[in-house]
Amino acid sequence: MLRKFLRALQEVDYALVRLVEWPFPKKYQRRGQCHKTGVCCRNIGVVAPDWVFRSRAATRMVQWWYEYVNEFYLKQIEADEQVFVFGCPYLKENTCSRYASRPPICRNYPQGGFFTRPATFQTCGYHFQKKLR
Ligand code: SF4
Repeated sequence: MLRKFLRALQEVDYALVRLVEWPFPKKYQRRGQCHKTGVCCRNIGVVAPDWVFRSRAATRMVQWWYEYVNEFYLKQIEADEQVFVFGCPYLKENTCSRYASRPPICRNYPQGGFFTRPATFQTCGYHFQKKLR
């Protein structure tokens, strides 16, 4: 129940980003398609501000959020790169075994960038292009 509620909040968050995109369009847009390598599901990178990594409570909170809400598991914390790396137990043979009910972070991955070009894995079928004016 709580997980459903928190996922609904995530959906609201993504909807707000789409709303902000209307007057302030992102500079980069996504191109391509999923090649089903599973690489993004095995290495889910969550970037956080540096203060999160300086606070044990904040680090635990972020970890809890992704473990509880999305049901991921923590693989490692790369504090120097300011990124948490999670894995997902629902990845089976490079395919999502809960595709219809996957969390919003998966439904919206990978997202375009407002200012900087988002990074994708080398083997990812998606890439980002700067929008032409
Ligand atoms: S829920 Fe599905 S799409 Fe999301 S990380 Fe897990 S396997 Fe990948």
